[in-house]
Amino acid sequence: MIKPQEFRKRRQQLLKTLGDGAIAIVPSAREKVRNGDVHYPFRQDSDFWYLSGFSEPDAILVLCHGCEVGEHILFCREADPAKMIWDGPMLGTAGAREKLLFDAVYDIKAIDNIMPTLLKGRERICYPVGKDQAFDLKVLDWNKAVETRKGEKSQAPEKFTNVLHHLHDMRLYKSREEIRCMKKSAEIAVKAHQRMMQVVAPGKNESDLLAEYLHTLASHQSQPSYTPIIGGGANGCILHYVQNNQPLQDGDLVLVDAGAEYDLYASDITRTYPVNGVFTSAQRDLYELVLTAHAAAVEHVQVGNQWNHPHEAAVRVIAQGLIDLGLLQAPLEQVLEEELYTEFFMHKTGHWLGLDVHDCGDYQVDGLWVELEAGMVLTIEPGIYVSPQAPVQAHWKGMGIRIEDDVLVSRKGPQILSDKIPRDIDAIETLMRG
Ligand code: ZN
Ligand code: MG
Repeated sequence: MIKPQEFRKRRQQLLKTLGDGAIAIVPSAREKVRNGDVHYPFRQDSDFWYLSGFSEPDAILVLCHGCEVGEHILFCREADPAKMIWDGPMLGTAGAREKLLFDAVYDIKAIDNIMPTLLKGRERICYPVGKDQAFDLKVLDWNKAVETRKGEKSQAPEKFTNVLHHLHDMRLYKSREEIRCMKKSAEIAVKAHQRMMQVVAPGKNESDLLAEYLHTLASHQSQPSYTPIIGGGANGCILHYVQNNQPLQDGDLVLVDAGAEYDLYASDITRTYPVNGVFTSAQRDLYELVLTAHAAAVEHVQVGNQWNHPHEAAVRVIAQGLIDLGLLQAPLEQVLEEELYTEFFMHKTGHWLGLDVHDCGDYQVDGLWVELEAGMVLTIEPGIYVSPQAPVQAHWKGMGIRIEDDVLVSRKGPQILSDKIPRDIDAIETLMRG
């Protein structure tokens, strides 16, 4: 668990980065109706959570340089005994102030009155510009209210900047405690993957694997970090396949892309294995190729390398391999130049990972790839997908293979957080036999 002191430290760091004259405003997530009186399970906004550690909806965080009431301010719902009968405990203003180390906490109902006072005399409002139109309008309203008050010369901020710029840069570098959370979320997902590998068999359904996965997560007080992809046979070629309800066939592979959430931190892991526990020779050939690309990509997750180095390494391996296996008929230079490999490998080799499964953070700055630094966490996930319609030999058709791990960039070299779930063919077949 991230401690309140760490949340406060992040707020201090953001205040320092934003500089004098700035006021930052970051809203929580809202409850969303699913249908009728039913809500989607509430998930806090990652940016808001990163700074506050506050898990309830209908709240707004304000960081204010030199404000009289203090610099760390929260607006939230007041603890309401009548509401708590239905929904359980709420922190309320007193609880949030004490437990989450805020200087001042107000009832969210009073925000329209208080915000203009906080804004008065500031130069810049830093908030998630353009993320939510209703919130954009709200900020403009508060700012206008500064001017219309008392009729004195306007002291409303005149500049608006996007707070997410700085915030997302901070979120890119994981602290020791965040890495601990991410290891934990990987550990839980690893257990789920192991269990799925052990129970899969011809005659089972994709949904049977889903059940094992959800069971494992729930028994660790965790939940999916995204909708899992459990695709047997050609469903493994559908990159965002989420129906997860088809029978698993003897002789097919199954591709399982499934992660867990721990203290809001995500893992994102993919394994591909034979439904009957033994790879065919064609499956072996293609699988070994993806595995080699995976190893080459991980090898390039080094401090000082650029973001695209792991991807380029994976692409080179896969391009040559597709030629060697006869899936592509062109010289390597042409396959790379014309990106012919994208017929079978059409996504990138990874993404940032953190509070969001596709975590925030730039990949390029001013046209240059971001340099990998210690504390960043990314996924490595090369894949090969041969659609049933592809103009290739029959034994390749309908095979979808991806191998995905979560990798911490460190000075000691790449650290795979999801290493405990087998990747090698022998290790997979052994686990599946057991
Ligand atoms: Zn991923
Ligand atoms: Mg994934």
